[in-house]
Amino acid sequence: MSVEQTSSPVLEVDDAPPSDVDEFAGLTRRNSLSPSRASDFMSCPLLYRFRVIDRLPEAPSIDAVRGSVVHKVLEDLFDLPTTDRTPERANALLPGAWERLLEAEPELAEMFGGPGVDGGPAGPDLLTWLDQCRALLGRYFTLEDPQRLEPAEREVHVITQLDSGLHLHGYIDRVDVAPTGELRIVDYKTGKSPGEHFEAKALFQMRFYALVVWRTRGVIPRMLQLVYLGNGEMLRYEPTEHDLLATERKVRALWDAITRANETGDWRPRKSVLCGWCDHKAICPAWGGVPPALPDTPAPSG
Ligand code: SF4
Repeated sequence: MSVEQTSSPVLEVDDAPPSDVDEFAGLTRRNSLSPSRASDFMSCPLLYRFRVIDRLPEAPSIDAVRGSVVHKVLEDLFDLPTTDRTPERANALLPGAWERLLEAEPELAEMFGGPGVDGGPAGPDLLTWLDQCRALLGRYFTLEDPQRLEPAEREVHVITQLDSGLHLHGYIDRVDVAPTGELRIVDYKTGKSPGEHFEAKALFQMRFYALVVWRTRGVIPRMLQLVYLGNGEMLRYEPTEHDLLATERKVRALWDAITRANETGDWRPRKSVLCGWCDHKAICPAWGGVPPALPDTPAPSG
């Protein structure tokens, strides 16, 4: 899943909301790491704390919801017979995808129209927003021809456990398998292709997935492909064993730092442009706020 980097960069990387744990799979926030949360810690340790340790609620983001709906349509598109995978059919899938999301989270309706929350700006018009979703879907067809694709997996949860006990996991939008057996990992982004800083973050996410796939399937994916629907660009990368070993070292070091912060309670804020999108600015000491006391909880067990 993906969110628009241009409007919600704090949430960029893999688009998974803070609830990206799967307790049915034995994962908790304290023994697992996803690319989203890894990115949070790299961007701002205090943001990681607010999301993972304090589990503070965050307002739904209109960009994130648009990302969810568009992802759902692109997932459903591949359930159709090959010849039906057209822009028209994708548009026809859109209202149903939105209705199902709304059914699961009725409060999302409050984001549209009407007066803004707490005197803030009014939400966008739903029809305009749906048109924006259609534009993103239309752009998809300029980048790929789904009639020529038969994905092996969609929205697949991948998970591996390192020797330390830490689980690495995440959701991959699409896995394609070539007749030669080579794997391509595809991630849809509803934002624009990133500048240099965000490109590194996006590639970290993809290398993270590639590492998990390598560890679980014994095969290094041949291609990592980011599909940017916001501006119709693709970013492709062929990972090497060297890359993935470096990613594994980086993830281990990151988890060590997270464990240390948890033991010391030293979750430092890191001010950046991302603060403009952070839901917790009012309680952030970097902006004159006072964070809540740390909950009395056990340390992460990696
Ligand atoms: S406002 Fe900025 S520094 Fe503070 S927690 Fe959020 S991202 Fe971190």
